[in-house]
Amino acid sequence: MKLLLAALLLQSAYSQEILGPRIRAHVKFLASDLLEGRGVGVRGGDLAAEYLATQLELLGVKPAGENGSYYQRVPLVGVEPLPTASLSGAIQGKLLGFRWLDDFVGMTYQQKENARLEADAVFVGHGISAPEFGWDDYKGIDVTGKIVVLFTGEPPSEDPAFFDGKALTYYGRWTYKYEEATRRGALGCLIIHTEPTASYGWDVVRSSWGREDMQVALANGAPALAFAGWITQQKGDELFASLAHSAADMLRQADTKGFKAVPLPVRLRGSFPAKVRQVETRNVVGIIPSGDSQRAGEAIVYSAHFDHLGIDRIRPADGIYNGAVDNATGCAMVLELARAWQAMDQKPRRAAVFLFVTAEENGLRGSQFYAAHPTAPIRKMLLNLNLDSFYPFGRTTDVVVTGADRTPFWSIVQNVTQRFRMTIQPDPRPEAGSYFRSDHFSFAKVGVPAFSIHMGNRIAGRTEDEGQKLMRGYSSAHYHQPSDEYKPDWDFAGMEEMAKYAFAIGLDVANQ
Ligand SMILES: [Zn+2]
Repeated sequence: MKLLLAALLLQSAYSQEILGPRIRAHVKFLASDLLEGRGVGVRGGDLAAEYLATQLELLGVKPAGENGSYYQRVPLVGVEPLPTASLSGAIQGKLLGFRWLDDFVGMTYQQKENARLEADAVFVGHGISAPEFGWDDYKGIDVTGKIVVLFTGEPPSEDPAFFDGKALTYYGRWTYKYEEATRRGALGCLIIHTEPTASYGWDVVRSSWGREDMQVALANGAPALAFAGWITQQKGDELFASLAHSAADMLRQADTKGFKAVPLPVRLRGSFPAKVRQVETRNVVGIIPSGDSQRAGEAIVYSAHFDHLGIDRIRPADGIYNGAVDNATGCAMVLELARAWQAMDQKPRRAAVFLFVTAEENGLRGSQFYAAHPTAPIRKMLLNLNLDSFYPFGRTTDVVVTGADRTPFWSIVQNVTQRFRMTIQPDPRPEAGSYFRSDHFSFAKVGVPAFSIHMGNRIAGRTEDEGQKLMRGYSSAHYHQPSDEYKPDWDFAGMEEMAKYAFAIGLDVANQ
């Protein structure tokens, strides 16, 4: 026992291998203009992948991709809807027309150039089937071959035992709506936009849906929606006029316990032309095997996305989205984690996987693909620890680890946080559902305990106000802008600390 304890202490000392100046060097390179914003399926992104694989190789980390390489091919399909898309219907002899972008937007998930649709519509409330909360909007209704019409969000609740109270559960996200509609055999799904259910205005819907979407290539014969879209609240009113109700009335019904789906007296037809192209991109993955042959198939997974938004060629001046904070920082930290892990003479009981995923900015596609097709010789992923976007303002005295409390490793996380003399800060906006917007969620969805580590905003040596101003200021000025660039005056002490923290959590879990 004593020996084992001594070995564990020794292992944790290897976190001292993690060095801020090395994190700086990786960030400087990954965020340089030469990497052209690390776009998906283009040269800059490929270069970033080559760099990460080369670094793993230099460290002596074993390849864990396909055919003995560090790469896992992720077949994506780019689907760009064309403005000639049309949607119309007839209600009791009256024509109901929709104008592209002004009244409706959306996407075909069938990955073809000429998806079409003609079907009856059914209103299914929030489109949620959640047995654990005793809620089923699809109860007693067959929507096979139909178009489901619904609201995003979830029934409002103050009760933590019912849809987690104020916090948004995954059932409230629009991605869930389309997934459930597909499982139910629907052909189309229309979300009626309202400001309160979506938490943003129509202009946001409009601008995020008119462009190319990267989708994981459909398996042969897999069902997919001919159209997954949004319509304005005003069009919702017109749709429900047939029932002598407004969209607001119907939302109230959808929010009420015991809600039952309502067939609408309308047949909708649409055509959704799209530009479709195959996109080849890759995840990068390496493994450091376990020190215990009996646990050889079990691993913890450190991940960070390396893709960013590429180049905007329409911008007159600097159109390169360098993605320094988002997410050259996380990649650099995972490389340092791999280095420290590799330095341990005696390896922990479980293996560690170091995974750099592609196409995060396109909807977590690379992590979704890896979680469904883990390449390393892995029977069981114990934990995914994801690193996404760290700020260069020095050490913080708090961390945000939303979702860690839902994993079996919560006490380890609390313990390590204490050891680091930090505090855990609750998710500042649980109702925004940020837990569902980072790569760890792809793992959580397939049942792997997973969470992301973020810095809090109490910066050591500054007042709370100053800290918040710095963090929020960076985010509002540079998030997803070409100005998210590396600067020589950046302080990497905080990233060094966060990487050590991630090392300690991973180590304790791997040895458990
Ligand atoms: Zn991003």
